[in-house]
Amino acid sequence: MLFCPKCKSLLRPGVKDSKRVMSCSCGFQTADLSKAKVSEKVNTGEPKIEVITKEEDPNPLTEAECPKCGHNKAHYWLIQTRAADEAETKFYKCEKCKHQWRDYT
Ligand SMILES: [Zn+2]
Ligand SMILES: [Zn+2]
Repeated sequence: MLFCPKCKSLLRPGVKDSKRVMSCSCGFQTADLSKAKVSEKVNTGEPKIEVITKEEDPNPLTEAECPKCGHNKAHYWLIQTRAADEAETKFYKCEKCKHQWRDYT
């Protein structure tokens, strides 16, 4: 709510010269800023683009010991081998040295 700076009574919304104004019975008038603010908040439509600065392996990390460097975390993924009835093969890639190996268990 806005109050008249001259007489402290409540300003009433109105229209003057096709513009929205807040006016007072004493003759004071001001632009209807409450409406103007709403239009300023309208989204510019620019989507936020997250900048990827670090190259990340999309595969999930799991606990596995690297046979090369001994690091205990590696990315893993599953690959379906030739026949559909064969079990999937699990592959690992060391988080640290990027060494890749296959899970033979
Ligand atoms: Zn007034
Ligand atoms: Zn390693």
